[in-house]
Order: sequence, then C-alpha cells, then structure tokens
Amino acid sequence: MHPFEQHIRNVPDFPKAAIMFKDITPLLQEKFEEVVAAMGEGINWNEIDAVVGVESRGFILGAAMAIHFKKGFIAVRKKGKLPPPTIAESYALEYGTDTLEMIVNDKPARVVVVDDVLATGGTLKAVMNLCAKNKYDVKALSLLINLTFLNKFKEEGLPVHSVLNY
Ligand code: AMP
Repeated sequence: MHPFEQHIRNVPDFPKAAIMFKDITPLLQEKFEEVVAAMGEGINWNEIDAVVGVESRGFILGAAMAIHFKKGFIAVRKKGKLPPPTIAESYALEYGTDTLEMIVNDKPARVVVVDDVLATGGTLKAVMNLCAKNKYDVKALSLLINLTFLNKFKEEGLPVHSVLNY
C-alpha cells in the first residue's frame, strides 16, 4: 500500500449514490509537499512552461506544483467565472455535466495538465481541447489519483503520471 493511501478517505454515495468519493483533504493536511513532489516525478520540467490547473482541486495541486517546479500557472475555470475573451468546452463528469473555460491566449506554451482525480476522463479531454484551441502543447498529464477502471486514457498517447492507481 502506498503511504499516501492511509490519508485518503473513501466516502460512499457522495455526491451521488454509487459514487465512491476520494476525499484527499486529510492527505493535503498531512503530506502536501510530498504529494506535490510525487506528482511532478517523471516529468521533464525543462520542456514545460506552465502548469494548467482545473478548478477547484486542480488549483490546489496545480498551483503548488507550479511554485515547486518554478513554472507559470494557467487556470481552467467553471463556466461564467473568467472575464472575456474566453473559450469553452462542455464535458461529462462521473456525476453530471459541466462546462469549463479558459482565457483566450495565442502565445504558445508547453504545459502539464493537473487535476486531483481522473475518473471517466471527460474533464481532462475538455481541458485538452481548450489547450489545443489556445495552441498550448500538452506534454503530460499529472493526476494524484487515476481510477483506471473508469477510463482508457492511456490510449491518448500522452504520458499520464498518476501517483495512486485503482
Ligand atoms: P472525470 O471527468 O469523470 O474524469 O472526473 C474528474 C473530475 O471529477 C475531477 O476533477 C475530480 O475532482 C472529480 N471526481 C470524479 N470522480 C471522483 C471521485 N470518485 N472522487 C473524487 N473526485 C472525483
């Protein structure tokens, strides 16, 4: 068992029936720095300009990684939070649907996309579409937790770094 696992709380039927929610808040309270370092392992940081973090747990982890590895930070937010001009992508969650937005930016950047949990992969797919529209070159994906039984994301051909795999 990975030493981080004892700090993750499995909450059944949250926020909906049949979802086993991975609560990472105890892990962040106990091991934040180790988590950030582990999520950056195996990534060639010399070829990265910025970390793309997905609201809202991706902000916590992504912003910390950006500082730890001395990179910029680019925010992906829920619909209606960012001022124009924005681009939008709708996506399916493990529980429901939503729309994500990013500020329009034509300046090329090489990025790592960061989120807490990869479930169906709908969120990451939407973020990758946003990055493509903005001419960001996605070099890698970094997740704290990969629920591999719910997704086939390795077929995307991109390196997927995940610390905990179920
Ligand atoms: P998905 O688009 O299905 O890959 O869902 C990923 C997003 O939903 C992530 O931003 C997670 O924060 C959240 N999420 C999905 N499933 C879970 C889960 N079982 N536990 C915690 N968060 C989850």
